[in-house]
Amino acid sequence: ANRKLIAGNWKMNGELSALAELDAIGAAVDDYPEVDIAVAPPFTLIAAAALRSPDLIIGGQDCHANVAGAHTGCVSATMLKESGARFAIVGHSERRADHHESDADVRAKANAAIAGGLTAIVCVGESEDQRDAGDAVAVVEAQVEGSVPADVDPAMLVVAYEPIWAVGTGRTPSVAEVGEMHAAIRARLVATFGEAGQGVRILYGGSVKPSNAATLLHIPDVDGALVGGASLKAADFVPIIAAAA
Ligand code: 13P
Repeated sequence: ANRKLIAGNWKMNGELSALAELDAIGAAVDDYPEVDIAVAPPFTLIAAAALRSPDLIIGGQDCHANVAGAHTGCVSATMLKESGARFAIVGHSERRADHHESDADVRAKANAAIAGGLTAIVCVGESEDQRDAGDAVAVVEAQVEGSVPADVDPAMLVVAYEPIWAVGTGRTPSVAEVGEMHAAIRARLVATFGEAGQGVRILYGGSVKPSNAATLLHIPDVDGALVGGASLKAADFVPIIAAAA
């Protein structure tokens, strides 16, 4: 089994005062040494978070596909790395929707992240209509095919399965649905990377909370979680980390 990774995605939440939560989350590093613990705060807090919590794996929620240039408002992988980030989430469904990011865009960002020395957490996931139509696995397989770079070191890759209808809704897929999807993603990763594809961690994301974490984290091929709302407070996030231990 792969070492578990529990990653918090703070989205557009987190003012300076939120850094205090990192102290309690950071304490879990000693309590659960078998779990990798990561937090992606907003860009504005990355440098402060990395300085304050050197034991936590701090990362960004996005990065640009280019290293530098005339891209107002954007942040490159190199900039993230310099700020203390060790990973970048790319292709989150909110980025795909709000910023019209295609699979090709996401793949370019993942390549840029890895070229810049960051682990890329590549997000995929079907909509509710796609699941209702029976297309969920095919949709996600196509997203993996299109979004996950094939010519990179797989040790720098993580894939996060986040069904869009489960993000922020309190709803989650069944154990069987998660297991089926993670097995399908694993098969694609092994087809691409060979045996090394077994070592690429596949996270589940979408309404993970203390009460469902243990169930979700013990499904085969679930190597961790990408947590939104429940990562904002240590009181919610630490029990999820504990469930992975
Ligand atoms: P929630 O945990 O709030 O459903 O968000 C999941 C998510 O989008 C993490 O990236």
